Amino acid sequence: MKRKLRMGMVGGGPGAFIGEVHRKAARMDGKIEIVAGAFDIDPAKSKQMGEELNLDPSRVYSDFNEMIANEAALPVDERIDLLAVTTPNNWHFPIAKAFLEAGFNVMCEKPMTMTVAEAVELEKIVKESGKTFGLMHTYSGYPMVKLAKDLVKQGEIGKVRKVVVQYAQGWLAKAIEKDGQMQASWRTDPKQSGAAGCVGDIGTHAANLAEYITGSKITDICADLTSFVDGRLLDDDGNCLLKMENGIKGVLHCSQISVGEENGLKIRVYGTEGGLEWYQEHPNQLLVKPMDKPTEIWSRGNEYVNNKSEAAARNTRVPAGHPEGYLESFANHYSNFADTILAKEAGETPDAVMLDFPDVADGVDGMVFIEKVVESAHSDQKWTKL
Ligand code: NAD
Repeated sequence: MKRKLRMGMVGGGPGAFIGEVHRKAARMDGKIEIVAGAFDIDPAKSKQMGEELNLDPSRVYSDFNEMIANEAALPVDERIDLLAVTTPNNWHFPIAKAFLEAGFNVMCEKPMTMTVAEAVELEKIVKESGKTFGLMHTYSGYPMVKLAKDLVKQGEIGKVRKVVVQYAQGWLAKAIEKDGQMQASWRTDPKQSGAAGCVGDIGTHAANLAEYITGSKITDICADLTSFVDGRLLDDDGNCLLKMENGIKGVLHCSQISVGEENGLKIRVYGTEGGLEWYQEHPNQLLVKPMDKPTEIWSRGNEYVNNKSEAAARNTRVPAGHPEGYLESFANHYSNFADTILAKEAGETPDAVMLDFPDVADGVDGMVFIEKVVESAHSDQKWTKL
């Protein structure tokens, strides 16, 4: 039976970045409502957030352990169906593990864990729990990225030879963490961020995007990492050469000291017959570059797009020319995630387009990517197998 799913959140307190994005996106299609949360590391701020969201005070908790105990004790038709984990990285694993083991579905932020060992353990827990697990690699939620994947699969650009993916930001070009900037403080602290800085924060998105569109995994990495800002313990810039399955070669660079760049995620894919280019700051367009012909600008929402890609069509809300963007990409992952939970609940098998959101296997790949980039950057050998 169709019903609205009840969502809880850990993280996303006052002043936090991504928690509010999740809340807006999860509610966009009317499939999910927010009913509970332990929103902040500070219980008083969690309470404040609950008030801002007009939640029942008895469903606003001081910490995630209290939340699990209370939610699990509620009748099945009242307790949360799914949890969103939107805390800094060091909390993802303990929170996701605890909620899965208590029988809740989980949508988790990336990078999934702090180590590969934790990621592998979480994969096992997801499998054993039978619950649905999503990982918020935002960018595969965009319809024109889904179109790019389908065009590659349909052979539109021939056999893929090369991928160039870049994710450039400039917001960490100064030591703003020293002034206590909230998002910079934990991202530059290895205890909260993990083994990598920029590579874990945005390099993993670039790697996931390259693998998603090509359908080929990264197999070898040769990486160079730098901390340009004095005293910073983690990388704020990374350059990687890639070898991928099916003979594909790649270049991936990520940077948070590229002054003037905002959220400059761009991917170019070159095959034997043509090329593709997608740029996150103009997400409604995909450039298609057929051999010996002028470059075409394909635009979201048009019939020629929807005829080529069922996934692009199903993840589009408004007609061509009315831009969709960042919030909608999160909403697409939430919508497919919710449909999957409901289909499983009804004893149905979710279809492939429904299941097209990043999951725990992507999380393991992301953690292996981070670990191997760091290993390569610190070794004389350089080329490192994943
Ligand atoms: P943030 O610093 O803005 O917010 C983190 C929030 O988590 C704060 O409210 C903090 O009080 C709360 N918190 C910390 N520990 C907690 C705990 N144990 N229990 C409850 N709440 C706790 O961080 P952010 O920029 O929103 O990033 C959060 C996560 O989202 C990170 O893992 C980051 O990598 C990821 N992220 C993903 C995207 C994306 O596009 N998918 C974008 C930005 C951030």
